Amino acid sequence: MKQRLLDDGIVLMRRFCEVNSLAVPEVNIRSTAEWPFGVCAYYRPTKIEVCLEKCAHIGVAGRSWSFPGNTVDRTPYGVIQHELGHHVDVMHSTQTARYRGDFSVKLRREAGEPPISGYCPDDGEWFAELFRVFVTNPDLLRIIRPATYERLRSRFDPVVADSWEAVLSGAPDRTKAACSKKVGDVLRRHATPQFAAMADSER
Ligand SMILES: [Zn+2]
Repeated sequence: MKQRLLDDGIVLMRRFCEVNSLAVPEVNIRSTAEWPFGVCAYYRPTKIEVCLEKCAHIGVAGRSWSFPGNTVDRTPYGVIQHELGHHVDVMHSTQTARYRGDFSVKLRREAGEPPISGYCPDDGEWFAELFRVFVTNPDLLRIIRPATYERLRSRFDPVVADSWEAVLSGAPDRTKAACSKKVGDVLRRHATPQFAAMADSER
């Protein structure tokens, strides 16, 4: 299962790079025997290093929420797009430090939107997590982080064209419900008084 998620993730990453004329990062898959790190993957220009055993399975219970295209995705599918985010950050920055650059710092400042997942120790990770959703489920990012989406959309073409519901159609019910709630919260917040009155009159 993890191998399949990794293969699909690499296919998506390559397609995204192709469509957007980006240099394709090299992907190295490591075994736990050659992996002394706590993390499941990392990026160093211009390589993605990933340890499959350390990546998550699809989350079906408890605090595990990973699913391809969800706001949380630590499966190999999402991990590859997160690392692609670091690659894009580095490739579009004028100043870089290891796997981060000023591109992500500037974009976060301009968009001014909150993190999309619980993993956000700095601007580089804020960016990589939002970028992951831009690649795996752009429709969802468009709705719940519109300012970031617009800025990314002005520079990159997404390759996934499905609605967010279609992307998550195979997800556990609680995952779909959690995303529905996020989408509903945003739509309610953005509803104008006129729109609300119109919706009322149509009931
Ligand atoms: Zn990262």
